[in-house]
Amino acid sequence: MSGLSLAAHLAVADHRHPVVVVDDGSTPLETRTWASWSSRPGLLDAAASRWFDKIRVHVNGRTTVLRLGSYRYRVVRGEDLAAVVRRYTDPLRHFTCQDGHVDGIADGGVIVDGQFLRARWVFDSVIGADMQPPADAQLAFRGWRVSSERAVFDAEIPTLFDFRTPQRKGASFVYVLPEDAHHALVEHTSFVAPGTPQDEAAQREALAEYLTEVAGADDYEIEREEHAVLPLCAAPASRRHGHVLTIGALGGLLKASTGFAYQRVQRDSAAIAESLQRHGHPFDLPVAPARFRLFDGVLLDVVTREPAQLERAFGALFRYRTAEPALRFLDEATSVPQEWQLFAGMPAATYLAAARHRLVR
Ligand SMILES: Cc1cc2nc3c(=O)[nH]c(=O)nc-3n(C[C@H](O)[C@H](O)[C@H](O)COP(=O)(O)OP(=O)(O)OC[C@H]3O[C@@H](n4cnc5c(N)ncnc54)[C@H](O)[C@@H]3O)c2cc1C
Repeated sequence: MSGLSLAAHLAVADHRHPVVVVDDGSTPLETRTWASWSSRPGLLDAAASRWFDKIRVHVNGRTTVLRLGSYRYRVVRGEDLAAVVRRYTDPLRHFTCQDGHVDGIADGGVIVDGQFLRARWVFDSVIGADMQPPADAQLAFRGWRVSSERAVFDAEIPTLFDFRTPQRKGASFVYVLPEDAHHALVEHTSFVAPGTPQDEAAQREALAEYLTEVAGADDYEIEREEHAVLPLCAAPASRRHGHVLTIGALGGLLKASTGFAYQRVQRDSAAIAESLQRHGHPFDLPVAPARFRLFDGVLLDVVTREPAQLERAFGALFRYRTAEPALRFLDEATSVPQEWQLFAGMPAATYLAAARHRLVR
């Protein structure tokens, strides 16, 4: 996702040097879908197959439908992203896609299928730096693409989080991304401490229970299953090594408190292209204020110790008439007074103690 996104942004920035995108196909694009929210038009918007202007949340015993204000929630499928990127990156503009396995990266080039490919800049989303900061938590999720005999899904409103699922195995919620009334991606998501083994049986049981008890889908078929354990890290990744810049999840673009990366990668890709154009190098990248990393780390510390706190925190952040204040905060675009307002309703002593502990450590 980050390699394709960067290629498109380089193309529109009129980058005149040859660009090679290397992928070994180990994660087929047809299996990938990214959802994200955004309040501004983006270069790759044409890749979105669905747009939503409302979300549903179920928290603290209540279901609420929230408008998104100036935001839109959208879904991008892997093959649609590749098709839109291809429009910008034809070979006439010096872009090539190469099927190949990256064995290693060195300053000055990449080893692809045993051959050295010389490159002035390398953007690495597959190998990563030798030293990465330790994970603060992990996001364990398992999703089913289901087909239900009865029309049980609301085709117009995705469910961002629904806490009607057991909390025994970590701070957990279910996420529902509908395609139509009969089809949806239903995902069980848990924030757990680093190194916690994935309990596949419990995840499947929770999904089945949600589908029958909450969604009301007694007769359904599982068409596809996806699962992952994403390491969540509040500390900044070490991104620059000589002429190599890590991008995507390895570049620390996963937001530690949500596990979302798509929109952050789009912003990062635009900034890399702009830096190359302006300075002749890709390293002049904006850095968000450090307090957002502290907030992410503190939330992870609190919810991995006390799972019930996740529902309280999400309930506080999404308590307004629209989801816009919460989404703006998660986008790291709020001011300090706005953040204090958002935090009211969270147990101050718990969070302040966790913040103090983290700062001292
Ligand atoms: C199942 C899943 C669902 C997710 N859903 C969302 C979502 O809805 N919204 C969101 O914002 N974030 C989501 N994320 C988080 C994040 O956005 C994705 O992980 C995203 O794809 C990260 O982009 P990337 O470029 O770092 O890695 P990837 O998109 O995984 O790209 C890495 C590419 O490298 C290739 N590759 C791997 N090893 C090699 C090698 N040695 N040589 C050559 N090629 C190689 C793979 O084939 C792959 O195409 C999700 C993550 C997962 C795992």
